[in-house]
Amino acid sequence: MDAIGTKRGKRGPQLLTIPKPEPEPGEVLVRTLRVGVDGTDHEVIAGNHGGPPEGEDSLVLGHEAVGVVEESTVAECSPGDVVVPTIRRPPESGINEYFERGEADMAPPDATVERGIDRAHGFMAEYFTSPAEYLVTVPRRLAEWGFLVEPISISEKALELASASRSSFTWEPEHALVLGNGPLGLVTVAMLRDEMDVYCLGRRDRPDPSIDIIEKLGGTYIDSRETPVDEIPGEYVAMDLIYEATGYAKHAFECIDALAPNGVGALLGVPDSWEFFVDGGHLHREFVMNNKALVGSVNSGPKHFEAAVETLDDLPSWFLEEYVTTVAYYESFADAFDTPETAIKTAVEFGSL
Ligand code: NAP
Ligand code: BGC
Ligand code: ZN
Repeated sequence: MDAIGTKRGKRGPQLLTIPKPEPEPGEVLVRTLRVGVDGTDHEVIAGNHGGPPEGEDSLVLGHEAVGVVEESTVAECSPGDVVVPTIRRPPESGINEYFERGEADMAPPDATVERGIDRAHGFMAEYFTSPAEYLVTVPRRLAEWGFLVEPISISEKALELASASRSSFTWEPEHALVLGNGPLGLVTVAMLRDEMDVYCLGRRDRPDPSIDIIEKLGGTYIDSRETPVDEIPGEYVAMDLIYEATGYAKHAFECIDALAPNGVGALLGVPDSWEFFVDGGHLHREFVMNNKALVGSVNSGPKHFEAAVETLDDLPSWFLEEYVTTVAYYESFADAFDTPETAIKTAVEFGSL
């Protein structure tokens, strides 16, 4: 069967031919419908994050999948069910406490592998298999957009961690800042739009479709070339919540000055090593004297996938239509990996219901 992956020594995503998988006892065979592409996929393709399984020289890409059950060996899943897989699986050393607790998203990198990213093949293939326990069911009416469940689940977890860190007092966030107008940042603006006054940072000139979406959602666009993150309170307002989705390492520190007293920042980006000057004393004092917090968040668990299905169902259809700019049939998969400024969220399509 056909799959899209990376091969050591070759540039960019490649069409691969791999055997069609057979479900083992406890597993389900899924016919893939669509698989989304995000910044992490671009990092994997560039060789900056993750890589093939031990001893192999290619990796099937794809971690934002939706598919339809073709064959099931378990009672909980039936042919025709629309499902979304979670990403993390036990490492070669076997199951560990994180998986036993159903908290694989809290496992450190050496206690897990990630399908389509790090040491495990992904879902960008005509079919994939998965143990049923790693599949979340999605209503059939959402099948077309189901590949957005995984990225939305990433924000569900990060927002849960951020508010948990503010749960010991009365925290009533009014102003939120999303750093990054890429696919993760924009969907988070959409998620927060009814709860708070939302600002979103980018570095694009108008006209730009991501700025149009921010404004149509009722948000305010901030250009980081005009207003650096730490100057945002002076130009706009201090933020109760900051969600970092740029992967730009300076933002992790600049955002401390953009927070209001008692505010919290959630860091999502996965930057490379970068040395730069920070006034550590000033930042330390800011944290302490203003009860500020920063939390890092990676991956997401089953409860976040379930919350994401509900969130997806509540997103306005105009947003989905404008946000998903490219759905490329898998034989033209390169279109989904192209990054013109007009592209926002892209996906590869293998079939329909
Ligand atoms: P993306 O497509 O790379 O989007 C990043 C966006 O941030 C781009 O639109 C970029 O603008 C903007 N940006 C970067 N530096 C900026 C700056 N200095 N000022 C203003 N805007 C800036 O990635 P994504 O898929 O949305 O994901 C966002 C980040 O989260 C990535 O680092 C990704 O690896 C990470 N991620 C983490 C998790 C997790 O579990 N922690 C999950 C998913 C993604 P331009 O396009 O104009 O350059
Ligand atoms: C994926 C997560 C993964 C993270 C780090 C993200 O793009 O959505 O599931 O844990 O990358 O590899
Ligand atoms: Zn991702």
